[in-house]
Amino acid sequence: MIKILIVFLAILSIGSLWIYFNTPDSSTNLTINNIVNSDTTKHKGKGMNEKIVKSDEEWKKELSPEEYKILREKGTERAFTGKYWDHHEIGLYICAACGSELFESDTKFDSGCGWPSYFEPIDSSRIIYKEDKSYGMVRTEVMCAKCDGHLGHVFDDGPPPTGLRYCINSGSLKFVPKEK
Ligand SMILES: [Zn+2]
Repeated sequence: MIKILIVFLAILSIGSLWIYFNTPDSSTNLTINNIVNSDTTKHKGKGMNEKIVKSDEEWKKELSPEEYKILREKGTERAFTGKYWDHHEIGLYICAACGSELFESDTKFDSGCGWPSYFEPIDSSRIIYKEDKSYGMVRTEVMCAKCDGHLGHVFDDGPPPTGLRYCINSGSLKFVPKEK
């Protein structure tokens, strides 16, 4: 009987420890929650794209070295060096790796930060938000939901209507002009 009691107590203590260590830190999740709650995109999560999964070797063959570094290794192009930070044509910006339609030119704004900036994506379900604690900062990384490619980060210092700034590498995007 005592043996059973000891085993029971052991399970109970392990269980409570597990819960303790798995409780997410509410402060660090705040940013991501705010962004998801302030979602104003027209489509709101319907029609989730099918995943594209490829090996590093396959991506290396398909992408330029610069695109591979950004999309697959979470690199960042130097500010004011990418092809789209100062680009003002009307059209769509698609994922350079998988072609998923991510941003529209009418949500692009001049943020002055040296990377193409948008206040919202075309469809929130095409973006994955992930907490990024690298370089001693807490930021929210944005990735392509279809291929898991790294795009950039989202910050809460953008203009209305969302107050968000999707700061995206030109190297993870391709521009498709709107047909006239
Ligand atoms: Zn993609």
